[in-house]
Amino acid sequence: FPPEKIRNFGIIAHVDHGKSTLADRLLEFTGTIKESLENKQVLDKLQVERERGITVKAQSASIVYKCDGKEYLLNLIDTPGHVDFSYEVSRSLSACQGVILVDATQGVQAQTLANYLLSMEHGLPVIPVINKIDMPRANIAKVEKEMLNLLDVHTSEIIHISAKLGQNIDQVLEAIVKQLPSPNLDCKSSYNSSSLLKALLFDSTYEKFRGVIANVAILDGTMKKGDIISSVYLQQKDGNSKSAYEVKEVGILRPEHVSTDVLYAGQVGYIVCGMKTVADAQIGDTLYHHKHPVQGLPKFKKARPVVFGEMFPLDQSQFKNLDAALNRLMLNDRSVTKLNSKSFLLGSGFRIGFLGLLHMDVFCQRLEQEFGTNVVMTSPTVPYKAILNPNKRLQIKEEKEITITTPEDYPSQNLVKDFLQPMIIGTVITPLQYSQDIMELCTAKNGTAVGNSYISETSLMLQYRLPLDEIVVDFYDKLKSLSSGYASFDYEDDGYESVNLSKVDILLNGEIVQELSKICTLEKSRKIGAKTCAKLKDLIPRQPFPVSIQAVIGKSVIARQTLPAAKKDVLAKTGGGDYTRKLKLLRREADLQKHLRAIGKIKVPKNLFIKMIFKL
Ligand code: GDP
Ligand code: MG
Repeated sequence: FPPEKIRNFGIIAHVDHGKSTLADRLLEFTGTIKESLENKQVLDKLQVERERGITVKAQSASIVYKCDGKEYLLNLIDTPGHVDFSYEVSRSLSACQGVILVDATQGVQAQTLANYLLSMEHGLPVIPVINKIDMPRANIAKVEKEMLNLLDVHTSEIIHISAKLGQNIDQVLEAIVKQLPSPNLDCKSSYNSSSLLKALLFDSTYEKFRGVIANVAILDGTMKKGDIISSVYLQQKDGNSKSAYEVKEVGILRPEHVSTDVLYAGQVGYIVCGMKTVADAQIGDTLYHHKHPVQGLPKFKKARPVVFGEMFPLDQSQFKNLDAALNRLMLNDRSVTKLNSKSFLLGSGFRIGFLGLLHMDVFCQRLEQEFGTNVVMTSPTVPYKAILNPNKRLQIKEEKEITITTPEDYPSQNLVKDFLQPMIIGTVITPLQYSQDIMELCTAKNGTAVGNSYISETSLMLQYRLPLDEIVVDFYDKLKSLSSGYASFDYEDDGYESVNLSKVDILLNGEIVQELSKICTLEKSRKIGAKTCAKLKDLIPRQPFPVSIQAVIGKSVIARQTLPAAKKDVLAKTGGGDYTRKLKLLRREADLQKHLRAIGKIKVPKNLFIKMIFKL
């Protein structure tokens, strides 16, 4: 296929709008895969994806399509739509030249808009599509109006389809061929159509026997089996050394690997070249023929984690295995960050950074399903910052900024000039009737309105500036329940702002319990302190003597409870509480119950801590 016969495109849309279904139809319609009666969503390969019905990892497939008697090669890159995964989206986008925006009858959603803006940023043309026209609830006129208001499109361009019934799929394919530019046009302008190989490495995975598999977009030249290649990253890493790899296999993704022995400019495919560590297959790297170095492509924006949790193996003997599993999984998800961490109770573990809560959930589920690991994950925190004053004794010469993600990071108060918290701009799109409740929710979460506007007679777009901390735990759930699931949400970072940050410590009969310390805003500290004390009173088994439970900030007590001494016949109080959601913990519950930890003279079962972590 010459470049002018190639189109690289992605389907972007809000979760559940039918991306994967449309992808399946496109593959079926063109005979790439066999038709099936049930919707099997071929590209949603991972088990988590099937269970949750969301796409986590961008997948690619090549389609051959005949239009006006000529054959075209269409490379489809399936993208995840959720806000937590936009890193994957932007990574995929840089390898495609066109994007289809599918919109369901629910109307334009916050993520649709965010992804649309992302495409605009990449300078990608968009084919607007309305999906699910077969549904009785479909309100096509309203959805069209929203699209005209929010996106830069014309009514005549909008294609109406039913991915489920396979209606008007041909129109979509035709639009891809006719409206999207071929990759070559792009190359010519920016890469001077020389014949030297220049390939973008946009994704990589690891397989046990074949080793590193890199997904590449060929921007210039050709890549053949047997070629000796190197990369800009490898050259920089190893200096001017011989760092080079032989291409052992090249092919296209249909969506399974089909070896073709050669890839031409404009094509998207995979290569296997015997790289042993995935660290060598840097995403965003530029590949070239070893003898003909080229200039590197602009670097990808690195994903920045916004939610942190501490992860521990339920069983310390599994620490090495967990480490290995994490490393393997992180090869396929480069947005996750990992640092070593230690806990008095849970032993050695890791501090893991995620792009969002859903991302964290999905990652843990994959750890369990794909690697059979059992982990304990503590509640998420966001990265706060502290500006420290210069201090001679501590040899801090000038003002210094530190990041605080766990209670141990919290600096001593007298050093601190200011604490800062991360802020976001949240966009909510909602039917009118829920807007009042949602505005109240945003205000309760310390949000300030930035701008509200109608996007049709019946739907509103609300924008609020909110502390990230307020949205990481339950904002999304609350929003969904307030709006019966109709409101959608997306956010972007908006810098840092001064905050009154405090560290709440818990004392049992005057002894500090390190693992229960918590960082929170001063405003919330009383509530959190009171909750923790009440909960502890409920969970700690009665001792032969009374136990005082206190929450303190520095030296001042902000909440207290007293657990009365045990009567003779009372053995232990069982901590009621339903936490069936953390089923995996139950399995180890009996074990942990046996392990007692002494805090002073007080004996408490170890699993109390796990319960405390999850139940607040
Ligand atoms: P994704 O999250 O964007 O990948 O969405 P999916 O492709 O997983 O589709 C979400 C749900 O919508 C599935 O239950 C599909 O069967 C359903 N769906 C997708 N397209 C259509 C359509 O055209 N009509 C109807 N009635 N349902 C559809
Ligand atoms: Mg999907």
